[in-house]
Amino acid sequence: MNQHPPPLVRAEGLHKSYGHRQAIRGIDLAIWPGETVAIIGPNGAGKSTLLDLLLGLRQPDGGKVHYSLPEPRRQIGLQLQNAPLFAGFTVLENLRMFAACYGLRCKKAELLAMLERCGLGEAAHTNAAHLSGGQQKWLAIAIALVHQPRLLFLDEPAAALDPRARRQMRSWIAELAAEGVSVVLTSHDMDEVQQVADRILLLQDGHIVAEGTAEALLATSGTSSLEDMYLKYTDTKEEVRGV
Ligand code: ADP
Ligand code: MG
Repeated sequence: MNQHPPPLVRAEGLHKSYGHRQAIRGIDLAIWPGETVAIIGPNGAGKSTLLDLLLGLRQPDGGKVHYSLPEPRRQIGLQLQNAPLFAGFTVLENLRMFAACYGLRCKKAELLAMLERCGLGEAAHTNAAHLSGGQQKWLAIAIALVHQPRLLFLDEPAAALDPRARRQMRSWIAELAAEGVSVVLTSHDMDEVQQVADRILLLQDGHIVAEGTAEALLATSGTSSLEDMYLKYTDTKEEVRGV
């Protein structure tokens, strides 16, 4: 008897083209409760498109995405590569407006606590347009969490962050995972991936060319680092499933 809870999201046979460009060419995947999954791969491999399909922000040309979450929009948080912010409004006001989009009326103290957690406590009353790139990323992440989602999608969360902020990001993702939140992230930072991901999907040309835990992928590829594994499989297009 299968005792496992169902996956939160299951995608089957996904295909997506932009004109003649086939961005996603037949992807099956499942995201299980509580796991952290890293999607890695070269620029243009299809990572952001895959997230958009999983999120329902784009419709696939073929295949389906199923959610076992009731009311997926309320259970999912997302930080996309270009997060929209209300320029001219403060950090706190931005967070409050996004909370209102979810029908939440949060107390100021709750919102300030969320900002504090994302390192934006001192910037709460700053115009969002005046934040640094890294601070804007953290605000996008605070917004992604405002409704306490069970599943979080992060598109290159560590990009544009300085080394200290990257380290904070890693421990922050680990904290969320410890709280049982499922996290799907894309990243080019192999140290980050090795540290936070339970499972890794390597995408190239719209295909998953390697999949498994970091240990399994290293063992199957015969490499000593994820970076070497990445270079090996993105070079040869060889397929491996190392779960
Ligand atoms: P990644 O996030 O891995 O860098 P993307 O999903 O952004 O990859 O892009 C996959 C492919 O689809 C690339 O060739 C990219 O140029 C193309 N693409 C992405 N978005 C669009 C779009 N809106 N219109 C046309 N082509 C797109
Ligand atoms: Mg991308």
